Amino acid sequence: MNIHEYQAKSMFRESGVPVQDGVHCTTVEEALRAYDSMGMEIVAVKSQIHAGGRGKGKLFCPNSGDLLMEGGVKVASSRAEVENFATNILGHKLVTNQTGPQGKMVKNLYVEAGCDISQEFYLAILVDREKECLLIMGSTEGGVDIEEVAEKNPNAIHKEWFDPTNGLGISKASSMADSLGITGDSQNLFVNLATNLASMFVEKDCSMIEINPLVRTVSGEMVALDAKVSFDDNASFRHAWRKELRDLSEESDVEVRAHEHGLSYVDLDGNIGCLVNGAGLAMATMDVIKLYGGEPANFLDIGGGADSKSITAAFQIILEDPSLKGILVNIFGGIIRCDMVARSIIEASLETDLQIPLVVRFSGTNHEEGKRILEDSDLDVFTVSTLGEAGEAIVEAIGRNLD
Ligand code: ADP
Ligand code: MG
Repeated sequence: MNIHEYQAKSMFRESGVPVQDGVHCTTVEEALRAYDSMGMEIVAVKSQIHAGGRGKGKLFCPNSGDLLMEGGVKVASSRAEVENFATNILGHKLVTNQTGPQGKMVKNLYVEAGCDISQEFYLAILVDREKECLLIMGSTEGGVDIEEVAEKNPNAIHKEWFDPTNGLGISKASSMADSLGITGDSQNLFVNLATNLASMFVEKDCSMIEINPLVRTVSGEMVALDAKVSFDDNASFRHAWRKELRDLSEESDVEVRAHEHGLSYVDLDGNIGCLVNGAGLAMATMDVIKLYGGEPANFLDIGGGADSKSITAAFQIILEDPSLKGILVNIFGGIIRCDMVARSIIEASLETDLQIPLVVRFSGTNHEEGKRILEDSDLDVFTVSTLGEAGEAIVEAIGRNLD
């Protein structure tokens, strides 16, 4: 789960990670009131969307497609400029290198005190699964695309690994400061900031925090000027407050609907829809599709407790993909019974008027009964027994359909 910059910064503030003062707004009037109340001459007017690259993005009118403004993060030095920027941002589409060409509608704005930047850094904390601990990464190449830095100049990225139970600690934070050339009073400020950030990461069960840029101001303060925070969804049960921060309008509509039915859906580029129970089986199914030369259109995990309603919803969701050419259902019956899934598939096919090839592989609880139900039905379906046969059958079936 991701949150907006303004929400992440309020969390930073509470956790002792310095940020500029700022006000979240949803209208131009609110932005002007924020400017008046802040009493600052220079402010940053920042589009709030769940994607980066806003500063270098472009704003378009969603109806006419006209370009309204270059840059979704603007520094304003007058009330009139705030009005102009806020007007061009709110209710318009921001296209950045992370949104895709369709862009994202901006509904939220953050008006933030302007900052006198002396130097920009990059700082991030993430989970290093291989080393089974947390990793803090810093670079003096802040404010730019870090993936590019990682590729062209990997030595410019400094790393410190730490255990979540012990925290980052002063010595590792100081050594990061040394690597980044942050000295004197700024070093103490950095150490405080980084250790507090690491504690926040653990307390809030984050999966990633990225500050790009972290800046040293002209007066030597260390300030997080951008804030990207993602949470580990597996820990949501112990953080009820997350519900309040969730902005469903930022999540793709189909993912939200899938979630409501207890399904995990991930959209992919291919043309074979996969309906599977269990993430491991979903991976194996995608592998076998690729093995036979096909490309999966999605990853849809119906989970352990699926019923006919959620299976119909899963079919509807998969069928929304215009590039879909076939569906592979791969179910391992454990708690879920294959006969129930078979009946649900028949129901869902009728309800969605299924016109494309369907391959079903059942294994486990009541698999034979499930297969029989499908074979006895009027449904045009290939039933198979092994994973290999499933991959081969669906790739062949869509091939035949394309000829
Ligand atoms: P994004 O990464 O989405 O482009 P940022 O929050 O990093 O958005 O903003 C882009 C750039 O705008 C930053 O690299 C920084 O140079 C500048 N900027 C952001 N906030 C402020 C601010 N409060 N004062 C001055 N400049 C800012
Ligand atoms: Mg940034």
